[in-house]
Amino acid sequence: MLLISNGRLRDPASGADSVNDAPRDILLVGDRIAAIALHGQLGARANDAEIFDATNLIVAPGFIDLHCHLREPGGESSETIESGTRAAARGGFTAVCPMPNTRPVNDNASVTRSILERAAAVSPVRVWPIGAASVGSKGEALSEIAAMKQAGIVAVSDDGRPIATAKLLRQVMEYCRALDLPVIDHCEDSSLFAGAVMREGKQSVRLGLRGMPAATESLAVARDVQIGELTNCRLHIAHLSARGSLELVRAAKANGLPVTCEITPHHFTLTDEDVQYDTRYKMNPPLASREDRDALIAGLADGTVDAIATDHAPHEPALKDVEFDRAPFGVTGFETALGLALELVHAGKISLLRMVELFTSGPARVLGIERRIAENEPGDLTIFSTEHKWTFRAEESASKSRNSPFDGRSFRGAPMATIVAGRIVFRR
Ligand SMILES: [Zn+2]
Ligand SMILES: [Zn+2]
Repeated sequence: MLLISNGRLRDPASGADSVNDAPRDILLVGDRIAAIALHGQLGARANDAEIFDATNLIVAPGFIDLHCHLREPGGESSETIESGTRAAARGGFTAVCPMPNTRPVNDNASVTRSILERAAAVSPVRVWPIGAASVGSKGEALSEIAAMKQAGIVAVSDDGRPIATAKLLRQVMEYCRALDLPVIDHCEDSSLFAGAVMREGKQSVRLGLRGMPAATESLAVARDVQIGELTNCRLHIAHLSARGSLELVRAAKANGLPVTCEITPHHFTLTDEDVQYDTRYKMNPPLASREDRDALIAGLADGTVDAIATDHAPHEPALKDVEFDRAPFGVTGFETALGLALELVHAGKISLLRMVELFTSGPARVLGIERRIAENEPGDLTIFSTEHKWTFRAEESASKSRNSPFDGRSFRGAPMATIVAGRIVFRR
């Protein structure tokens, strides 16, 4: 038994906000929420419980990260399921969705099962794998989507690359609609991408680096929305980075299509002006222009965007310590996501409740599940401070990799405890 005592609840799904802001106690019994009451009103029921004092802290439903790379199997020198999920717990995440671009690719049920078995043995948080859309994510033959669904995947994607052709995407979507799985696409028109290492613009010219235009992404989003309409399958746009893409999602939603999208903390925080020859600023999609970044923040505020997702993409130092042109794409993200999102809250750009939605009920909706603080719901909670001051040091990260552009950044606000299935798995 665990008693979360005297916390301020912020739960967009239950509508708990400042309207009735009296602190609450939450009693967790086994792996579930057993009772919620005004502070001090649970009485004898909580007598034997371990107590977590949440005074002056926010208690939110457990955060879900729809998009990460745990690198196991095959990339264990950069990350393992154990190290990656420990970093996720430190970031306040109670569930993470690893992309299938491991070695081997998660394109069949035996790989899915082995990931889930490993996670059950070592992960402090829930691991909900995403299966590949095509065999080897090569964009040719369909993967074993139905068998992977039975094994436990929650979505389908060829992330790392786009689903190669409109024809394949249509087939994938027809299957996924029948199986009630969302298709998540890394949107990129590869013919415009070739050889590019950052966003095309003034800064790419200044640095003499090959750039890709924003249309690289938005062209693919337009294709996906139309195939989505053709098949009526749920479509989720991964790591959306361009204003043109956001406008397409906004229009699709206005037309009633089941289209959702996510934005990463690095895309709503940084711009292409931050890119020098430092490979910690190299990711795909690349950092966008200031106008695009401001449009993304507007989309977070107005509800067009459904989720904040990290795209945590660890690479061991040996891979990233090379010239900008040769380095792999990707940055780590679990431990800095909440701090960066709170920067938007402190700046008055989004409300605290909206931020919580982007980490909880928003991503849950993308997966077709619910996430809220209520009796009998799973005992997954993220407890955080909006004020705690700290500095992120990549060398102290639980991740095996150090490739963060936010190394040394100071934050106001941090995860204070991560609770999964009624147990504290991280506490600051
Ligand atoms: Zn991607
Ligand atoms: Zn990714």
